[in-house]
Amino acid sequence: FEPPAPLPIRRLQESLINRIAAGEIIHRPASALKELLENSLDAGATSIRVVVKDGGLKLLQIQDNGCGIRKTDLPILAERFTTSKLSSFSDLSRLTTYGFRGEALASISHVAHLSVVTKTRSEVCAYKAQYSDGRLVPSQAGHTPDPKPCAGNDGTIITIEDLFFNIPTRLSALRNTSDEYSRILDVITKYAIHNPKVSFSCKKAGSGTPEISTPSGSTTPQTIGMLYGHTVTKEILHADIVSPDNTKADETWSAQAYFTSANYQAKKTIFLLFINHRLVESTRLKRALEGLYTGILPKGASPFIYLSLEIHPRAVDVNVHPTKKEVHFLNEDVITERICDSVQDILAEKNSSRTFEYQT
Ligand code: ADP
Ligand code: MG
Repeated sequence: FEPPAPLPIRRLQESLINRIAAGEIIHRPASALKELLENSLDAGATSIRVVVKDGGLKLLQIQDNGCGIRKTDLPILAERFTTSKLSSFSDLSRLTTYGFRGEALASISHVAHLSVVTKTRSEVCAYKAQYSDGRLVPSQAGHTPDPKPCAGNDGTIITIEDLFFNIPTRLSALRNTSDEYSRILDVITKYAIHNPKVSFSCKKAGSGTPEISTPSGSTTPQTIGMLYGHTVTKEILHADIVSPDNTKADETWSAQAYFTSANYQAKKTIFLLFINHRLVESTRLKRALEGLYTGILPKGASPFIYLSLEIHPRAVDVNVHPTKKEVHFLNEDVITERICDSVQDILAEKNSSRTFEYQT
C-alpha cells in the first residue's frame, strides 16, 4: 500500500476566498436581484424599475426612489459587513429590515462589475461610484477612486454588469438566458404582490414594453389580477388569521391569506409565501395548504395561494444563511394547523353557498 504523498497546505488568496464566498450567496441573476429589491424596499422606495439584458448576466439594473446613500458612506458601501441596519447582536431579534449583514453588495462586487448612482434628498447632486472586489475604484485609470458628482434623481441606481465574468464554470451553467429572465420576472412578480403600494416594472434593455408594470397604491387583489390574470381575482378568497393566544408576546402571530376557490383550476400550484416580509419557502406549509384542495378540485387541478405570515422576530431564526430559502419557525405545527383550519372553513363556506345557489 502506497498512499499519495501529502500535498502542501497553502493559504488561499484573499480575492479567491471572497470570490468563492460571493458565489455561494449570489447563485444566479435572480438571487442578486432579490437582494437589490430588498435593499430598495428597505430604503423606503415607492417605485422600483428593473432593466435586464441577457437574462441579467450582461446587465441587471435597478432604479429606486428611496432614501439614497450618503456620499460619505460610498467608500465603504461594497465592503463586507458594512450595513446601516444592524449595530448589535440583540438588534437581530428586532429586525424590521430585510438586510442586516451587509454582504449583498460586497458579494456582487466580487463576481461582477458594480456601479452605483445615488442621491439623498439633502444632497444637491447625485454621486457615481464603481466597485471591484469590495473596493471603490476610479472611473478612469489614473484618477483617484472618489465618488464623482453627476446628475441624477433622488434615490439609487445600482448597475451590475457581466455577472460571473470571473467564474467561468458558473457562467457556462447559466447559459439559458430566457430561463434566467423568467426567474427574474418571478421574483419581481412576487415582491410586487407583497408590496401593492409600490410600483414595479421590469423590461429588457432596449425594449419599449415592460413585461411587468404595476402602478403604485394598488390593493393586493388588484395586483394579483394584474400579474396572474383576472380569472384568479374573480375566484380569490381572503382570510385574516390571528394567533389564538395574545398573552405571550413571543407567541403572537398573524397571517393574511389570499387563495382561490374551487372554481379556479391551475395546472400547477402557485404558492407565494412571505414570512416577516421575506420571500421564503416552506414545503410543509405548501403541502398542508395544497392538501385542503384535494377533495374539492378535480385531479390534476391546483390552486393559487398567497400567504403573508408575521411572527415575532424571536420565533424565526433570521440569522440563517441568506440563501437558505426553506425556513423553520417556532410552533410551526400549531400555526400551520390554525391557518389551514381558517382557509378550510372559508373554502367550505364558499362551496356550500355555491351548491345552494345552484339548487335554488
Ligand atoms: P444590508 O442590506 O444587509 O445592509 P447590503 O450589502 O445589501 O447589506 O447593503 C449595504 C448598505 O448599503 C445598506 O445597509 C444600505 O445602507 C445601503 N444600500 C444598499 N442599497 C441601497 C438602496 N437601494 N438605497 C439606499 N441604501 C442602500
Ligand atoms: Mg441588503
